[in-house]
Amino acid sequence: MNKSNIWFVPKVIGIWLLFVVFPVINQVLAKLMDKEEQITHFIYGTMFCGVLLTLFFAVLLMLTYNREKTLRKYFMRRRRTRIETRDGYYQCLYCGNEMVKQEDIICSVCGVRFL
Ligand SMILES: [Zn+2]
Repeated sequence: MNKSNIWFVPKVIGIWLLFVVFPVINQVLAKLMDKEEQITHFIYGTMFCGVLLTLFFAVLLMLTYNREKTLRKYFMRRRRTRIETRDGYYQCLYCGNEMVKQEDIICSVCGVRFL
């Protein structure tokens, strides 16, 4: 996973702090100060939003991770193919060997089996 795909992680932590940790601290303080009833509804509402947002970003993170995996799989598959070059030879995309013949099943240099 590269950096550009996890840009939202610090934001998630920030939002999480704002909507989950902060209300909990508030509630503890409210209990200590005996003003619980006035702000309890507000706190639960905020916490609920926080939990929803946390779930939303968790799903987003999972989707990003899965997309990375799919891309890597595709890339690895692509690397195990050969492309036609001049003079009827093929190039192994895995190691760059340009002396692959059409009937070759594996690359004579790196030994990768072509798909
Ligand atoms: Zn090769």
